[in-house]
Amino acid sequence: QSREPDDYQERPAKRHAGDVEMVVDHYNLRPEVGVKQRKESPIIGLKNFNNWVKSVLITQFGHPALASNSSKKRGKVLDMGCGKGGDLIKWGKARIREMLAVDIAHVSVEQARHRWATMRPRRFDASFAALDCYTEPLTKVFTPEQLAQPFDVVSMQFCMHYAFETAQKARCMLQNVSEWLRPGGIFLGTVPNADQLLARLDQLPADSEDLSFGNSVYKIRFEERTSRPLFGHRYYFYLRDAVDNVPEYIVEWDNFVQMAAQYGLHPVFKKEFHEVFEENREHEDFKQLMVRMNVCDATGASSMEDEEWEAVNIYIAFAFEKR
Ligand code: SAM
Repeated sequence: QSREPDDYQERPAKRHAGDVEMVVDHYNLRPEVGVKQRKESPIIGLKNFNNWVKSVLITQFGHPALASNSSKKRGKVLDMGCGKGGDLIKWGKARIREMLAVDIAHVSVEQARHRWATMRPRRFDASFAALDCYTEPLTKVFTPEQLAQPFDVVSMQFCMHYAFETAQKARCMLQNVSEWLRPGGIFLGTVPNADQLLARLDQLPADSEDLSFGNSVYKIRFEERTSRPLFGHRYYFYLRDAVDNVPEYIVEWDNFVQMAAQYGLHPVFKKEFHEVFEENREHEDFKQLMVRMNVCDATGASSMEDEEWEAVNIYIAFAFEKR
């Protein structure tokens, strides 16, 4: 049920003290592991699959936006919530000219910068900065010169849901996305699927006090059963070997779309991860990419356990166009 866009402005912003600090500490304290240790992760199949979905999304929506830049300058990308720079190679393959990247976790930002500086070949210029991009503008960390040429693509991978703690944060996030994105540019990302999470919550036994579901790979725990606010609808997320019960927020899709429209952003794509898989598994390039990224072997057999499959399928991929 959609609400009027201004509904949420009437509500007091419900800020959970300490949530942001928990998120920042969590990501800052996660050690950067080498390639060998990464390959040994118990959820390496899931991580590879998520990377494959991001590659598909970037190829299908990022590449055309970069190519359609009428100034003929090779493209420019903003990675918001860049983490340790896990998408640098993907953007290198997109043959971009420049990237600006921000994340609230300053340790991750340094790791991303190091990763870029040691990339061989290093195909594009990049600037990295620590920024809470849900409360602060990009102008806090980038100069007018750095922002003069607009972005062709803004990417937010597995991080936008943290903005939905309050309406103000979601608005600040959208302002940062839209302000420096050129008309015709693309905003793409990945985010948990609210419909699915809430449906799973509804399926819990009526007398159950434990409002959690999941399996040995992931767990989601809600605090309340019936209250469904558009902002600050918090749950705790655990992902084995990756995320330790960090607070996240439901992103109710219609509300997100209505808000995004106020920033000139209009949806052109929304798919659950399993749909992205089904639709592209026979695509010649993406099929080969799946083998190269160890998502499956040459026979097409998946390298993920069933429980990992369930965990990846709580996400959706999306793309919006700036008009
Ligand atoms: N985008 C990266 C990727 O796909 O590998 C990292 C994803 S990680 C699951 C989520 C990231 O969101 C973390 O690096 C975290 O620090 C970042 N984040 C959370 N809140 C943020 C905020 N307010 N401003 C900027 N980054 C934020």
